[in-house]
Amino acid sequence: MPELKMPANLPDPIVNENAKIVLQRRYQRKDLDGVVYETVKELFWRVASAIAKEEAKYEKSTTKPAKLARDFYDLMTSYRFLPNSPTLMNAGTDLGQLAACFVLPVEDDIEGIFDAVKHAAMIHKSGGGTGFAFSRLRAKDSVVGSTGGVASGPLSFLKIFNCATEQIKQGGTRRGANMGILRIDHPDIMEFIKAKERDGDLNNFNLSVGLTEAFMQAVHDKADFELIAPNTGKAVGTLNAREVFNILVQKAWESGDPGIVFLDRINRDNPTPAMGEIESTNPCGEQPLLPYEACNLGSINLGLCFAKGKNGKDSEIDWDELKRIIHLSVRFLDNVIDASVYPLPQISDTVRKNRKIGLGVMGWADLLYQLNIPYNSQTAVDMAERVMKFVQAEARSASKQLAAERGQFTTYPESTFGAANLGPYRNATTTTIAPTGTLSIIAGCSSGVEPLFALSFVRNVMDNDKLVETNPYFEAALKDADAFSGKLMEEIAKVGSIKKMDHLPEHLRSVFVTSMDVEPIWHLKMQAAFQKYTDNAVSKTVNLPGSATKEDIWDIYWKAYEYGCKGVTVYRDGSKTSQVLCTGDAE
Ligand code: ADP
Repeated sequence: MPELKMPANLPDPIVNENAKIVLQRRYQRKDLDGVVYETVKELFWRVASAIAKEEAKYEKSTTKPAKLARDFYDLMTSYRFLPNSPTLMNAGTDLGQLAACFVLPVEDDIEGIFDAVKHAAMIHKSGGGTGFAFSRLRAKDSVVGSTGGVASGPLSFLKIFNCATEQIKQGGTRRGANMGILRIDHPDIMEFIKAKERDGDLNNFNLSVGLTEAFMQAVHDKADFELIAPNTGKAVGTLNAREVFNILVQKAWESGDPGIVFLDRINRDNPTPAMGEIESTNPCGEQPLLPYEACNLGSINLGLCFAKGKNGKDSEIDWDELKRIIHLSVRFLDNVIDASVYPLPQISDTVRKNRKIGLGVMGWADLLYQLNIPYNSQTAVDMAERVMKFVQAEARSASKQLAAERGQFTTYPESTFGAANLGPYRNATTTTIAPTGTLSIIAGCSSGVEPLFALSFVRNVMDNDKLVETNPYFEAALKDADAFSGKLMEEIAKVGSIKKMDHLPEHLRSVFVTSMDVEPIWHLKMQAAFQKYTDNAVSKTVNLPGSATKEDIWDIYWKAYEYGCKGVTVYRDGSKTSQVLCTGDAE
């Protein structure tokens, strides 16, 4: 396909100070000596044109690639939508790997295990993150038929994956991130639950226990449950469900790990069960995938979808604008699948059959600030449902339109959509809510659907750069209320929150809340509200004060189940000295 020439009148993007540092470090192209030779404008044009070019191969498309490239450029440089990091890094380059999320199978034999290590290395090199289920590996001390020896079990192999990731970190675009999942009924589950009890262990992994409906029922009934040897399918012991859940909660209280994912629930929503069972998610948990499947994500900045009402009253969301952005973004993400070069033929094959994309949102806290709605309120939860319902419906409608132009996804006939006779879709899934750790810095907005970490704070980015940030909506509201002063900002930067600042107006203190001001129940209700209208899952951390108890975490894990979440991650303040991945940290 011919290159699309950069138009002479293409405007320069406005880039915030934090984004300048991040883009220069990891996104703008560099020569062999590490010297940046690409401007930010060229970067966004490289991405816009590479993705728009794909349009040319669809005969029924009424959109001209050159016009579409300009639309994509404007969409990204106005920070209304950004694709996941690998797309920004690699679109239009020789590497060409554009997806953030992968899941690889780990088979119960040495070749299979080391194939997965190698494939993960290839993916990390291109900026993608990998998830694995270790559930198929036979338990520690099981017999190995071919040698007569004994197996070393999932945990010993996990360490090898962790070590390999550590070594690739240096040369890749960013350090690799992994998710490791073990089913609750695996015989080595207790060892897995305790695997990260020492700070620094398995530091390149997030771990989650794969919980089943049967196990949750056993917890409820105070009953025992069976451990099943994966290689024989036979029960090899029983454990008390409550005792195991208790230890799981204890470990999460100590270090944040392991999180939990509800495997049966994920598979209930698996759109293509005929292609197999979903065993794992990507590193941050928001994208369940089949073995050898990848997914590219993109996020709409809701903070920019605010419409001030007439006379400053009746402020609302600009639904027409949001709709326009959703449709353009779905086209973008579908084109990304065609433009992407996947590291393995098995991955290309699975991806092109299902064509999963994950359109999500960021800047949610920014939108609530503008709407004067406290994050920790039923009004905010209702609004979350309303917004995500709209995003999901419009994204699906866009996917249907693309199916009419380009054809349905290959496995549509045997998918759950096909079975329900919902009419052809282009994509097996369309919505996912990502953490947007780096995207939110580039767009200068609050990350994902999280409350703001602090109203004003010093951010550590990548190696040693420190960036000072104040939320612009907060600053504007303070100025409006005649309460802004340099001294106040210094005071706020020390603590992050204004909850205890009695001298500030009450309406500001109730609306401008931060993650630590938001009680755990509201974190969960918000996650559940977004999950209700998200095809895949929602990245969300329930932040807790250092004083939170084990009972608090038990309650959160249990409510996450009751509220219909697909998993949950908690973080108790101060329980880890470093984190693999945390929203708000750029890596
Ligand atoms: P970004 O803002 O950089 O696009 P997100 O924070 O939204 O990324 O993360 C989305 C997904 O991207 C993660 O769940 C994971 O699959 C992948 N990812 C994030 N950070 C890394 C990393 N450092 N290395 C590899 N993959 C990553």
